[in-house]
Amino acid sequence: MALECPFCAQPNADQALVCNSCARDIAIPASLLAERDGLIRKREAVRDELSRAKAELESYKIGKGRIAAATG
Ligand SMILES: [Zn+2]
Repeated sequence: MALECPFCAQPNADQALVCNSCARDIAIPASLLAERDGLIRKREAVRDELSRAKAELESYKIGKGRIAAATG
């Protein structure tokens, strides 16, 4: 898998330290990659939670007036 430059989006060799195209530093420490993977998993979990919350909100909207009553 090629490493895509975050600055100019050109593909580079996996172990490239600088971009072939724009010569910027693109080396990514393994610890950051692991952190990113963890964040991606968290993001997926949050998305699931958000879609459940949206579905719940829709069910409240169907029964209009309940939210207004609850907030005064
Ligand atoms: Zn670049």
